[in-house]
Amino acid sequence: MCKPHFTLYFIDIVGACNLRCPSCPVGNFQSNDFVNQSRPKGFMQLSLFEDILDKIKREDNEHEYVVIGVYNWGEPLLHPEYPKFIDAIKSRGFYAEVSTNLNVKKVKDVVSFAPHKLIISLSGYHREVYAKTHSNGDANLMVSNLYKLRYYMDKLKQNFAVEISYHLYEHNVGEDLERMMCIANDLGFHFSSELTLLMPLEKNFKYLRGEQLSELEQKLISLMLIKPEEQLKLAQPYKNTSCSLLNWKTINFDGSMATCCAVYDYEYNITNNFLKVSHTELEERKRNSSLCKRCMVQGLHALATYTARDELDKLINERLQKFGSKIIRDASHARHYSFDFH
Ligand code: SF4
Ligand code: SF4
Repeated sequence: MCKPHFTLYFIDIVGACNLRCPSCPVGNFQSNDFVNQSRPKGFMQLSLFEDILDKIKREDNEHEYVVIGVYNWGEPLLHPEYPKFIDAIKSRGFYAEVSTNLNVKKVKDVVSFAPHKLIISLSGYHREVYAKTHSNGDANLMVSNLYKLRYYMDKLKQNFAVEISYHLYEHNVGEDLERMMCIANDLGFHFSSELTLLMPLEKNFKYLRGEQLSELEQKLISLMLIKPEEQLKLAQPYKNTSCSLLNWKTINFDGSMATCCAVYDYEYNITNNFLKVSHTELEERKRNSSLCKRCMVQGLHALATYTARDELDKLINERLQKFGSKIIRDASHARHYSFDFH
């Protein structure tokens, strides 16, 4: 029987971020959003990371390729030992994926210790546009780093996949979108774009319960290209279908494991120690998760995985037109989920 092609582990090597994006729990989660305790912050120990990788190697034999994404709700390039994490992944024959806001000073390191794929998430070109949805970020630093990235890739003769992932909002689909597409094209990077979700999943439960939203949440929703109620409506036909995120695993910086990459509160962790629970038992716990059941009953999983793709794409293009964009989003804007495995 054929093995499934690849699996993906998100491992947050940094449990913190230098930015405070309002669409992300790092920026939008308040202390009263947590069920009990708030979430800890910190850096993953290299030895813990290596133990986790070794356990994956021993126990997860179902897939031909294993991709390790060293991110979820944190900025991996903040880790002082970042290069060693990339080495640890590659030395075990796994594929290394990094997602960053690129508001950092170590572009040369990123290239010298190259992952197989680097994703740069952003939401604008001009400082004032970018800063609305990448709060605390500096567009000039990020854009200049894109050029440095190309410079060092050429100088050090390092070739790896780079994807610019543009988060679409009402305020950034004009000149900003066009400029970033041109820069990606000039530098030879793949350009993808996607509508923004209200994350994490817990915020959608709050939204569905009709609870009073904070000023920050209301402001975010006012900027979203497709509003949460529209996203939810499109997700309804997929209620009670299976969820593709169940196939992937998310490990926090302290070795605990989340239900999935869309969930933030430690209340919903599957275990507080990934190392101590067998792969089979972890799969079982995910399958029986009461959070997943609640999520699927309401169709939220379809929202989190953009399942209504065709309808969403149609709506995105209607909105791009409405907000004066000359761009038509087509298949070339899709996120690349596969690697050039070899
Ligand atoms: S850069 Fe990424 S991890 Fe950091 S706050 Fe923004 S979305 Fe969250
Ligand atoms: S059902 Fe919901 S909580 Fe469970 S894995 Fe899917 S998106 Fe995450």
